[in-house]
Amino acid sequence: MRAKIIESLRARNIELVAVSKYVDASKIKELKSLGVRNFGENKVQALATKCQELEKEAINWHFIGNLQSNKINALLRLRPYLWQSCVSFEQAMMVDKRLDFELDTLLEVNFAKEASKQGCEPKIAREEYLKIKAKCKNIRLVGVMSIGARQENELKASFKSCYDLYESLKPEGAKICSMGMSSDYELAIACGSNMVRLGSVLFE
Ligand SMILES: *Cc1c(COP(=O)(O)O)cnc(C)c1O
Repeated sequence: MRAKIIESLRARNIELVAVSKYVDASKIKELKSLGVRNFGENKVQALATKCQELEKEAINWHFIGNLQSNKINALLRLRPYLWQSCVSFEQAMMVDKRLDFELDTLLEVNFAKEASKQGCEPKIAREEYLKIKAKCKNIRLVGVMSIGARQENELKASFKSCYDLYESLKPEGAKICSMGMSSDYELAIACGSNMVRLGSVLFE
């Protein structure tokens, strides 16, 4: 099942980020042996532990969770490959102040418009993106990330809006449109995603 998923994404040139938050280092190694290079975690502490346990493995670590200000230094020490969950210009400034290397970053936008989800408000997302780009010298914005709406009838619209934002930011250097999780990644790809974040479907 999962070998099939990996192969089918590869054939379509869709980047796969395996979300390893539910599993331990041994399961990560197992998946890595199938050729997966990108892994994502949503807690800084868990990321730190796994980075250390797997330091000999060539893994690109993605941070995809809520970043509390008291965890910024801990995250930066790990030198993540991609910070997918920057939610605002204000937060980008706080991180930028502490950066002594360039950090590839995505702006997370809450197209689901659900209070329970984090992310920048869609209305101001473009403006925030451009401000970060102009003012944060060590944050290298490379695209956008979004979590699809939970409501079936809103899901497609949320992915389409995210793709439209991504398109509009291509002239500003956006290359990554990260959307789609286990339950909705095929729809996300149909709407233009080029990076999916899959957890349960790979590890169950
Ligand atoms: C957990 C998580 C995922 C993966 O979720 P699944 O439904 O298990 O595929 C993707 N993105 C984010 C931001 C997550 O927190």
